[in-house]
Amino acid sequence: MAMPNDLDKGPLTQIPFSPPVTGVPLFDVQRQTAPLREEIDAAVSSVFDTGQFVLGPEVQALESEIANYCHANFAVGCASGSDALLLALLAAEIGQGDEVIVPSYTFFSTASTVARVGAKIVFADIDPKTFNLDPNDVARKITKRTKAIIPVHLFGQCADMHRLCDIAQGNDLLLIEDAAQAIGAEYHGRRAGSLGDMGCFSFYPTKNLGGPGDGGMLTSNDEGWVDRLSLLRVHGMRPRYYHQAIGINSRLDGIQAAVLNVKLPHLERWTEMRIENAKRYQQLFEQAGIFGHVELPTMEITGRHVWNQYVIRVPGGHRDSLRAHLKAANVGTEIYYPVPLHRQACFADLDYPPGSLPETERAAAETLALPIFPELTAAEQEYTAWHITSYFKAAAKAA
Ligand SMILES: *Cc1c(COP(=O)(O)O)cnc(C)c1O
Repeated sequence: MAMPNDLDKGPLTQIPFSPPVTGVPLFDVQRQTAPLREEIDAAVSSVFDTGQFVLGPEVQALESEIANYCHANFAVGCASGSDALLLALLAAEIGQGDEVIVPSYTFFSTASTVARVGAKIVFADIDPKTFNLDPNDVARKITKRTKAIIPVHLFGQCADMHRLCDIAQGNDLLLIEDAAQAIGAEYHGRRAGSLGDMGCFSFYPTKNLGGPGDGGMLTSNDEGWVDRLSLLRVHGMRPRYYHQAIGINSRLDGIQAAVLNVKLPHLERWTEMRIENAKRYQQLFEQAGIFGHVELPTMEITGRHVWNQYVIRVPGGHRDSLRAHLKAANVGTEIYYPVPLHRQACFADLDYPPGSLPETERAAAETLALPIFPELTAAEQEYTAWHITSYFKAAAKAA
């Protein structure tokens, strides 16, 4: 049978085809785990082979790798980021009669752990550009009872650690970093978790290094703290069934650690992808001439922002309607955080009336997080930016 002879025709180049985007998830864990699935399955399986389900060699390996990655001397695994904060406060013997200064514009456990150990939460306001603790307000709120400051490196960018370290040193206070959103973030060349006395990390699935469940870790350069934390996470037990202190049960699982050990070598690449995505949003919004309608996040020149979240500010009462517009276009967004902690029902007795932390309250009313996960495609970002632009075009026409 004669076949058509195509040999004399030029080679065909397949035109890259991207399916039309019809929506963008805020976060998609499958895109990250799918290519690593065989390695992850083997790692999980090996934990079943050894039977070391709690702490054990996978946890030890992860502790030394994380310490290394965070430029810290030591790391101690625990059950969650919230427990890391609780353990740091327990290690420091902070409790009744003590005060701890924290931001109100953060996840709940930055503050709740302070109340949990019996100390008084003192909320300070934030810098409107970075959303991180405002050192001036921290300084104003120090009293004779203040024992510690917990700066949060919010959304993946380090707080103003030079000023906060100065304040802490000048007043003999501990500095506990809440670095749950900031693994790999840098500040003048040093990494989050190595900048204060202790650093607290979370491996919750949506963090930059996420496990298949809850997990956490503390970092420190001080062997004394590390010894205390290691004791407190196992009920203060040393040796077995002899209790030196009243600790808690907060150990990291072997399965969590095994999966995190597979993922950690990819973290630098994922971080670079997040940084690229942030740059692409900047370009797209510049092209669209969006300034004046929204404020893009500020990147401080002092370090590396690792973009756990890409949070824009939408002033003029447009935030919630823009969010609804994006939802209708199947673009996932989130509000971090709609109710600041000083306005939460459970902290009503702390008596922070509306207006007491003005920048925190303004941020809670204006901020919107857009998709920024590493595997987000350029087409998805274009789709997102297009719909944000179309919202403001329509709003301008209606005005
Ligand atoms: C996620 C998070 C925590 C708590 O971590 P978990 O592992 O969920 O307990 C604490 N602080 C901040 C700022 C966080 O983002």
